[in-house]
Amino acid sequence: MSPDDKVLLAVLGVRDAEMLASRLGAQGINIATIYNHSTCTTGCSPSKEIWAHVDDVPVIKRCIQEERLAMLNAMGVNLEQIEKVYDPSQGEATCPACGTCFSTAHEACPECGLQFV
Ligand SMILES: [Zn+2]
Repeated sequence: MSPDDKVLLAVLGVRDAEMLASRLGAQGINIATIYNHSTCTTGCSPSKEIWAHVDDVPVIKRCIQEERLAMLNAMGVNLEQIEKVYDPSQGEATCPACGTCFSTAHEACPECGLQFV
């Protein structure tokens, strides 16, 4: 593998970078994580650059996406609920914040007060 085949994929926090590296390593994909001092000013949490072989990029991107979805799920975020939109032409709407079902005659969620304009 020549160094020219490597591309910069992302800059992640050290913990995220190491978790990603070990997850991809388990799938036989090697990524390089390199400290980049220029992207990080004093006082911020340290970050690492993720470098990977160009051929591995699609797989790695999918892996990062899965990781984000898993994280959102772990946080209790309901992705289907987030995608629901307030549509006044429908008689009822589901609040994307709290999941309450309410009449679109209201411009705010009766449960949590989220405004729809
Ligand atoms: Zn609500």
